Amino acid sequence: MSVQKVAIHGAAGRMGRALILALQPAEDLELVAATESAHSSALGRDSGALAGAGDNGIPIHADLGAAFAQADVVIDFTRPEGLAEALDALEQQPRRLVSGTTGLDPAQQQRLERYAERCAVVQAANFSIGVNLCIRLTELAARALDDSADIEIIELHHRDKVDAPSGTALRLGRAAAAATGRSLEEQAVYSRVGHTGPRPPRAIGFSTVRGGDIVGEHTVLLAAQGEQVEIRHRATSRANFAGGALRAARWLADRDGGLYDMPDVLGLA
Ligand code: NAD
Repeated sequence: MSVQKVAIHGAAGRMGRALILALQPAEDLELVAATESAHSSALGRDSGALAGAGDNGIPIHADLGAAFAQADVVIDFTRPEGLAEALDALEQQPRRLVSGTTGLDPAQQQRLERYAERCAVVQAANFSIGVNLCIRLTELAARALDDSADIEIIELHHRDKVDAPSGTALRLGRAAAAATGRSLEEQAVYSRVGHTGPRPPRAIGFSTVRGGDIVGEHTVLLAAQGEQVEIRHRATSRANFAGGALRAARWLADRDGGLYDMPDVLGLA
Protein backbone atom coordinates (compact mmCIF):
# COMPACT_ATOMS: atom_id res chain seq x y z
CA MET A 1 0.00 0.00 0.00
CA SER A 2 1.43 3.37 -0.99
CA VAL A 3 1.15 6.08 1.63
CA GLN A 4 0.32 9.66 0.59
CA LYS A 5 1.91 12.46 2.59
CA VAL A 6 -0.54 15.20 3.58
CA ALA A 7 -0.01 18.83 4.62
CA ILE A 8 -2.92 20.65 6.26
CA HIS A 9 -3.20 24.41 5.79
CA GLY A 10 -5.42 26.04 8.41
CA ALA A 11 -4.50 23.31 10.90
CA ALA A 12 -5.72 25.23 13.97
CA GLY A 13 -9.19 25.95 12.54
CA ARG A 14 -12.31 23.88 13.21
CA MET A 15 -11.93 21.98 9.94
CA GLY A 16 -8.14 21.71 10.30
CA ARG A 17 -8.56 20.05 13.70
CA ALA A 18 -11.31 17.75 12.39
CA LEU A 19 -8.98 16.70 9.56
CA ILE A 20 -6.11 15.93 11.95
CA LEU A 21 -8.47 13.75 14.01
CA ALA A 22 -9.76 12.00 10.89
CA LEU A 23 -6.21 11.39 9.64
CA GLN A 24 -5.07 9.71 12.84
CA PRO A 25 -6.39 6.19 12.11
CA ALA A 26 -5.72 6.33 8.33
CA GLU A 27 -3.02 3.90 7.21
CA ASP A 28 -2.76 5.20 3.64
CA LEU A 29 -2.50 8.92 4.52
CA GLU A 30 0.20 10.42 6.73
CA LEU A 31 0.18 13.92 8.19
CA VAL A 32 3.63 15.45 7.52
CA ALA A 33 3.03 19.19 8.04
CA ALA A 34 0.51 21.56 9.62
CA THR A 35 0.45 25.22 8.65
CA GLU A 36 -1.39 28.37 9.65
CA SER A 37 -1.56 32.08 9.09
CA ALA A 38 1.64 33.92 10.17
CA HIS A 39 -0.60 35.74 12.69
CA SER A 40 -2.08 32.64 14.26
CA SER A 41 -1.76 32.25 18.04
CA ALA A 42 -1.38 28.49 17.43
CA LEU A 43 2.11 28.77 15.85
CA GLY A 44 4.54 26.45 17.63
CA ARG A 45 1.78 24.32 19.19
CA ASP A 46 1.67 20.57 18.58
CA SER A 47 -1.00 20.05 15.89
CA GLY A 48 -2.19 16.71 17.30
CA ALA A 49 -2.55 18.05 20.83
CA LEU A 50 -4.47 21.07 19.54
CA ALA A 51 -6.87 18.78 17.66
CA GLY A 52 -7.45 16.65 20.75
CA ALA A 53 -5.72 13.69 19.10
CA GLY A 54 -2.71 13.59 21.46
CA ASP A 55 0.83 14.81 20.67
CA ASN A 56 1.93 13.90 17.13
CA GLY A 57 5.27 15.79 17.10
CA ILE A 58 4.16 17.98 14.17
CA PRO A 59 4.22 21.63 15.21
CA ILE A 60 2.06 24.25 13.51
CA HIS A 61 4.16 26.73 11.55
CA ALA A 62 3.80 29.31 8.77
CA ASP A 63 6.59 28.27 6.34
CA LEU A 64 4.31 26.99 3.59
CA GLY A 65 7.13 26.32 1.10
CA ALA A 66 8.95 24.02 3.53
CA ALA A 67 5.70 22.30 4.58
CA PHE A 68 4.38 21.63 1.11
CA ALA A 69 7.79 20.39 -0.12
CA GLN A 70 7.34 17.35 2.16
CA ALA A 71 3.80 16.56 0.96
CA ASP A 72 2.11 14.76 -1.95
CA VAL A 73 -1.20 16.52 -1.32
CA VAL A 74 -2.17 19.75 0.46
CA ILE A 75 -5.57 20.17 2.14
CA ASP A 76 -6.71 23.79 2.61
CA PHE A 77 -9.66 24.92 4.74
CA THR A 78 -8.83 28.55 5.57
CA ARG A 79 -9.99 31.87 4.13
CA PRO A 80 -9.55 33.19 0.58
CA GLU A 81 -6.31 34.97 1.69
CA GLY A 82 -5.10 31.67 3.16
CA LEU A 83 -5.73 29.88 -0.11
CA ALA A 84 -3.93 32.70 -1.98
CA GLU A 85 -0.86 32.21 0.24
CA ALA A 86 -1.04 28.46 -0.36
CA LEU A 87 -1.14 29.05 -4.13
CA ASP A 88 1.91 31.37 -3.87
CA ALA A 89 3.83 28.37 -2.52
CA LEU A 90 2.17 25.75 -4.74
CA GLU A 91 2.89 27.67 -7.94
CA GLN A 92 6.61 27.32 -7.08
CA GLN A 93 6.34 23.58 -6.35
CA PRO A 94 3.03 22.08 -7.53
CA ARG A 95 1.29 19.55 -5.28
CA ARG A 96 -2.17 18.04 -5.58
CA LEU A 97 -4.68 20.19 -3.70
CA VAL A 98 -7.96 19.61 -1.87
CA SER A 99 -9.62 22.96 -1.13
CA GLY A 100 -12.77 23.58 0.91
CA THR A 101 -12.25 27.30 1.46
CA THR A 102 -15.43 29.18 0.50
CA GLY A 103 -16.09 32.78 -0.48
CA LEU A 104 -13.57 33.13 -3.33
CA ASP A 105 -14.07 36.14 -5.61
CA PRO A 106 -13.97 35.58 -9.40
CA ALA A 107 -10.25 36.48 -9.67
CA GLN A 108 -9.34 34.08 -6.85
CA GLN A 109 -11.46 31.36 -8.47
CA GLN A 110 -9.74 31.92 -11.84
CA ARG A 111 -6.33 31.65 -10.21
CA LEU A 112 -7.30 28.29 -8.71
CA GLU A 113 -8.59 27.12 -12.09
CA ARG A 114 -5.28 28.12 -13.74
CA TYR A 115 -3.37 26.19 -11.09
CA ALA A 116 -5.57 23.12 -11.75
CA GLU A 117 -4.37 23.08 -15.37
CA ARG A 118 -0.91 22.22 -14.00
CA CYS A 119 -1.81 20.03 -11.03
CA ALA A 120 -5.02 18.23 -10.00
CA VAL A 121 -7.40 19.98 -7.58
CA VAL A 122 -10.63 18.93 -5.86
CA GLN A 123 -12.62 22.00 -4.87
CA ALA A 124 -16.04 21.54 -3.29
CA ALA A 125 -18.49 23.88 -1.57
CA ASN A 126 -19.62 20.87 0.46
CA PHE A 127 -17.35 17.88 1.11
CA SER A 128 -20.01 15.85 2.90
CA ILE A 129 -20.41 12.53 1.09
CA GLY A 130 -24.02 12.25 2.30
CA VAL A 131 -25.01 15.72 1.08
CA ASN A 132 -23.53 15.08 -2.36
CA LEU A 133 -25.38 11.78 -2.51
CA CYS A 134 -28.65 13.51 -1.51
CA ILE A 135 -28.19 16.10 -4.27
CA ARG A 136 -27.91 13.29 -6.83
CA LEU A 137 -30.85 11.39 -5.32
CA THR A 138 -32.93 14.58 -5.44
CA GLU A 139 -32.19 14.97 -9.16
CA LEU A 140 -33.21 11.37 -9.81
CA ALA A 141 -36.40 11.53 -7.72
CA ALA A 142 -37.51 14.92 -9.03
CA ARG A 143 -36.97 13.82 -12.64
CA ALA A 144 -38.86 10.55 -12.14
CA LEU A 145 -41.82 12.08 -10.29
CA ASP A 146 -41.75 15.32 -12.32
CA ASP A 147 -44.97 17.36 -12.03
CA SER A 148 -46.82 14.60 -10.15
CA ALA A 149 -45.02 15.60 -6.94
CA ASP A 150 -44.91 18.84 -4.96
CA ILE A 151 -41.35 19.58 -3.87
CA GLU A 152 -40.69 20.99 -0.40
CA ILE A 153 -37.29 21.42 1.26
CA ILE A 154 -37.13 21.54 5.04
CA GLU A 155 -33.91 22.45 6.85
CA LEU A 156 -33.02 22.56 10.56
CA HIS A 157 -29.96 24.24 12.09
CA HIS A 158 -28.70 25.47 15.47
CA ARG A 159 -29.89 28.73 16.96
CA ASP A 160 -26.71 30.67 16.00
CA LYS A 161 -27.02 30.23 12.23
CA VAL A 162 -27.54 33.68 10.73
CA ASP A 163 -28.66 32.94 7.16
CA ALA A 164 -31.72 31.13 5.76
CA PRO A 165 -32.39 28.99 3.90
CA SER A 166 -29.01 27.25 4.18
CA GLY A 167 -26.69 27.08 1.17
CA THR A 168 -27.25 23.32 1.07
CA ALA A 169 -31.05 23.75 1.01
CA LEU A 170 -30.68 26.13 -1.94
CA ARG A 171 -28.34 23.64 -3.66
CA LEU A 172 -30.95 20.88 -3.22
CA GLY A 173 -33.62 23.25 -4.57
CA ARG A 174 -31.48 24.05 -7.62
CA ALA A 175 -30.94 20.32 -8.24
CA ALA A 176 -34.71 19.67 -8.12
CA ALA A 177 -35.42 22.68 -10.34
CA ALA A 178 -32.80 21.73 -12.94
CA ALA A 179 -34.01 18.12 -13.06
CA THR A 180 -37.60 19.23 -13.83
CA GLY A 181 -36.89 22.18 -16.13
CA ARG A 182 -37.88 24.84 -13.56
CA SER A 183 -36.20 28.08 -12.57
CA LEU A 184 -35.58 28.26 -8.83
CA GLU A 185 -35.64 32.07 -9.04
CA GLU A 186 -39.20 31.97 -10.41
CA GLN A 187 -40.61 28.97 -8.51
CA ALA A 188 -39.09 29.22 -5.02
CA VAL A 189 -41.49 30.01 -2.14
CA TYR A 190 -39.51 31.02 0.95
CA SER A 191 -42.35 31.82 3.36
CA ARG A 192 -46.10 31.34 3.81
CA VAL A 193 -48.31 33.30 6.16
CA GLY A 194 -51.98 34.31 6.24
CA HIS A 195 -54.32 33.53 3.35
CA THR A 196 -51.83 32.08 0.88
CA GLY A 197 -54.31 30.48 -1.54
CA PRO A 198 -53.62 27.02 -2.98
CA ARG A 199 -50.08 25.88 -3.61
CA PRO A 200 -48.79 26.93 -7.07
CA PRO A 201 -48.32 23.63 -8.95
CA ARG A 202 -44.61 23.92 -9.82
CA ALA A 203 -43.49 25.77 -6.68
CA ILE A 204 -40.43 24.61 -4.74
CA GLY A 205 -41.13 25.43 -1.09
CA PHE A 206 -38.56 26.05 1.66
CA SER A 207 -39.12 25.76 5.41
CA THR A 208 -36.57 26.76 8.03
CA VAL A 209 -36.29 25.58 11.65
CA ARG A 210 -33.74 27.10 14.07
CA GLY A 211 -33.00 25.80 17.55
CA GLY A 212 -30.57 24.42 20.10
CA ASP A 213 -27.38 22.79 18.83
CA ILE A 214 -28.75 21.04 15.71
CA VAL A 215 -25.68 20.60 13.47
CA GLY A 216 -27.76 20.48 10.28
CA GLU A 217 -30.61 18.48 8.80
CA HIS A 218 -32.06 18.69 5.28
CA THR A 219 -35.13 16.91 3.97
CA VAL A 220 -36.40 16.97 0.39
CA LEU A 221 -40.06 15.98 0.43
CA LEU A 222 -41.68 14.96 -2.84
CA ALA A 223 -45.40 14.73 -2.10
CA ALA A 224 -47.56 13.12 -4.81
CA GLN A 225 -51.13 11.79 -4.79
CA GLY A 226 -51.17 8.67 -2.62
CA GLU A 227 -47.43 8.59 -1.82
CA GLN A 228 -44.55 10.66 -0.51
CA VAL A 229 -40.81 10.29 -0.96
CA GLU A 230 -38.39 11.83 1.54
CA ILE A 231 -34.64 12.24 1.05
CA ARG A 232 -33.00 13.20 4.33
CA HIS A 233 -29.48 14.06 5.43
CA ARG A 234 -28.57 14.58 9.07
CA ALA A 235 -25.12 15.91 10.02
CA THR A 236 -23.91 15.12 13.51
CA SER A 237 -20.41 16.66 13.40
CA ARG A 238 -17.74 18.18 11.14
CA ALA A 239 -16.29 14.69 10.74
CA ASN A 240 -18.47 14.28 7.65
CA PHE A 241 -16.67 17.14 5.84
CA ALA A 242 -13.26 15.84 6.97
CA GLY A 243 -14.07 12.31 5.78
CA GLY A 244 -15.08 13.64 2.37
CA ALA A 245 -11.90 15.74 2.09
CA LEU A 246 -9.71 12.71 2.89
CA ARG A 247 -11.60 10.66 0.31
CA ALA A 248 -10.88 13.42 -2.23
CA ALA A 249 -7.17 13.36 -1.28
CA ARG A 250 -7.03 9.59 -1.90
CA TRP A 251 -8.88 9.92 -5.22
CA LEU A 252 -6.47 12.63 -6.43
CA ALA A 253 -3.49 10.27 -6.20
CA ASP A 254 -4.23 9.01 -9.74
CA ARG A 255 -4.74 12.46 -11.32
CA ASP A 256 -2.17 14.77 -12.89
CA GLY A 257 -4.29 17.84 -13.65
CA GLY A 258 -7.84 19.17 -13.78
CA LEU A 259 -10.38 20.78 -11.47
CA TYR A 260 -12.78 18.29 -9.89
CA ASP A 261 -15.76 18.41 -7.53
CA MET A 262 -17.14 15.84 -5.06
CA PRO A 263 -19.52 14.24 -7.57
CA ASP A 264 -16.38 13.32 -9.61
CA VAL A 265 -14.76 11.80 -6.52
CA LEU A 266 -17.91 9.83 -5.65
CA GLY A 267 -18.62 8.66 -9.21
CA LEU A 268 -21.87 10.65 -9.27
CA ALA A 269 -20.98 13.12 -12.05
P1 NAD B 1 -12.14 28.47 11.17
O1 NAD B 1 -12.30 29.93 11.29
O2 NAD B 1 -12.40 27.60 12.37
O3 NAD B 1 -10.66 28.12 10.66
C1 NAD B 1 -10.01 28.83 9.63
C2 NAD B 1 -8.53 28.72 9.88
O4 NAD B 1 -7.87 29.33 8.77
C3 NAD B 1 -8.09 29.45 11.16
O5 NAD B 1 -7.29 28.60 11.95
C4 NAD B 1 -7.32 30.64 10.63
O6 NAD B 1 -6.22 31.00 11.47
C5 NAD B 1 -6.84 30.12 9.31
N1 NAD B 1 -6.52 31.23 8.41
C6 NAD B 1 -7.19 32.39 8.26
N2 NAD B 1 -6.53 33.18 7.38
C7 NAD B 1 -5.44 32.50 7.01
C8 NAD B 1 -4.37 32.79 6.15
N3 NAD B 1 -4.29 33.95 5.50
N4 NAD B 1 -3.42 31.85 5.98
C9 NAD B 1 -3.51 30.66 6.65
N5 NAD B 1 -4.49 30.35 7.49
C10 NAD B 1 -5.45 31.27 7.65
O7 NAD B 1 -13.07 28.03 9.94
P2 NAD B 1 -13.54 26.56 9.52
O8 NAD B 1 -14.91 26.33 10.05
O9 NAD B 1 -12.46 25.58 9.80
O10 NAD B 1 -13.70 26.79 7.95
C11 NAD B 1 -12.57 27.09 7.15
C12 NAD B 1 -13.03 27.29 5.71
O11 NAD B 1 -13.61 26.09 5.23
C13 NAD B 1 -14.11 28.36 5.52
O12 NAD B 1 -13.90 28.98 4.27
C14 NAD B 1 -15.40 27.56 5.53
O13 NAD B 1 -16.44 28.21 4.86
C15 NAD B 1 -14.94 26.35 4.78
N6 NAD B 1 -15.72 25.12 5.02
C16 NAD B 1 -15.99 24.38 3.92
C17 NAD B 1 -16.63 23.17 4.05
C18 NAD B 1 -16.87 22.36 2.81
O14 NAD B 1 -17.44 21.27 2.90
N7 NAD B 1 -16.41 22.84 1.66
C19 NAD B 1 -17.02 22.71 5.31
C20 NAD B 1 -16.72 23.48 6.43
C21 NAD B 1 -16.05 24.70 6.27
